[in-house]
Amino acid sequence: MARIVMKFGGTSVADIDRIRNVARHVKREVDAGHEVAVVVSAMSGKTNELVGWTKAADAMHDAREYDAVVASGEQVTSGLLAITLQSMGINARSWQGWQIPIHTDNSHGAARILEIDGSEIIKRMGEGQVAVVAGFQGLGPDNRIATLGRGGSDTSAVAIAAAVKADRCDIYTDVDGVYTTDPRIEPKARRLKKVGFEEMLEMASLGSKVLQVRSVELAMVFKVRTFVRSSFVDPDAPGMGDFLNPPGTLICDEEEIVEQEVVTGIAYAKDEAQISLRRVADRPGVSAAIFGPLAETHINVDMIVQNISEDGSRTDMTFTVPTGDLEKAQKVLEDQKDKVGFDVIQSESGLVKVSVIGVGMRSHAGVAATAFKALAEKGINIKAITTSEIKISILIDGAYGELAVRTLHSAYGLDKK
Ligand code: ADP
Ligand code: ASP
Ligand code: MG
Repeated sequence: MARIVMKFGGTSVADIDRIRNVARHVKREVDAGHEVAVVVSAMSGKTNELVGWTKAADAMHDAREYDAVVASGEQVTSGLLAITLQSMGINARSWQGWQIPIHTDNSHGAARILEIDGSEIIKRMGEGQVAVVAGFQGLGPDNRIATLGRGGSDTSAVAIAAAVKADRCDIYTDVDGVYTTDPRIEPKARRLKKVGFEEMLEMASLGSKVLQVRSVELAMVFKVRTFVRSSFVDPDAPGMGDFLNPPGTLICDEEEIVEQEVVTGIAYAKDEAQISLRRVADRPGVSAAIFGPLAETHINVDMIVQNISEDGSRTDMTFTVPTGDLEKAQKVLEDQKDKVGFDVIQSESGLVKVSVIGVGMRSHAGVAATAFKALAEKGINIKAITTSEIKISILIDGAYGELAVRTLHSAYGLDKK
């Protein structure tokens, strides 16, 4: 007997039939004698609809009220799954974030989980009750509902798994694991049997939304054995209940991976915008004057490229922000014009960032050159490049995004044979 946390994403709970299918996955584990807590997302499309309503009501809405609205999607699915499980003769009840409680910080809309009191859930699981927890939400220090940022139910699941000391956390979604790249973009993508925490962190933060970044961080810190697997299969198919070796991808320590490739995957992030400040004064304090105010306005600056100035007096500064923040960023910079001392702001939106990820890069030379050559052969122009020990990110025109992903995928030999 073991303790398992099972998380089901939006498409897995999209309607009552799918919720019934989810209930059968839960029943399989309960019948096997395991203690089970389930975490659910909102029905697919629901959170987008709720977010849209808050914007329509007022673009400058209060973040606490945004949270009150958008957390409701998960409340609905937690109740519906509990009803469905009960109808199948399983003892189950729903839990909202505030009832457990899942304590978060005060960053409404993008809150971080601080602490979870798992005692009541552990006690109830011991009595044979299945906890059906609404994902994506917790309780802020102001005693109000706080949501965890888009995709946050993954984080709820891993955090609950850590809090109840689960033996395993299964993230059920509409793909049967983590692939070498998004299989919707490259059908030749291969499913990975295992992915190391560090690589998964990079993939998630560079655009592979199969797992929320924070969920990977928590899995790494709390050593939660996390599997990504599909809910879109017969819950009672052979092997589905295999405890040690379930179908899917295990997120684990690098050391657990025997056959390590140089490049593990290609990630892709849309809706990037580039801002260039032309002829910026080249003196100490200028970067602080540019990026300080952007940070204060909660604008996430990503790639930063500063050119060497020709004569030591003026230089160009280029960086990227999410397209949604472009207008706000331009306004903040215009307000700083006198302090920073630049000539003009130029910007371009609708760009994409493709990234090549692999821990093998630490010990192999020439990995970046392969990417540049492959993109050049397809006539794809590179606008900016950043690298770290285990990744290379390349900014390109949005129209070439998917072509670039497929080109790099095959350049590194990742295509399915
Ligand atoms: P859920 O609603 O279950 O949380 P998401 O839509 O958030 O599901 O995440 C699953 C999706 O992530 C898949 O449908 C797939 O298109 C996308 N995805 C992006 N990159 C990858 C990858 N490397 N491997 C698998 N799926 C990926
Ligand atoms: N429903 C939320 C979202 O769409 C959380 C999640 O699905 O993980 O972002
Ligand atoms: Mg998700």
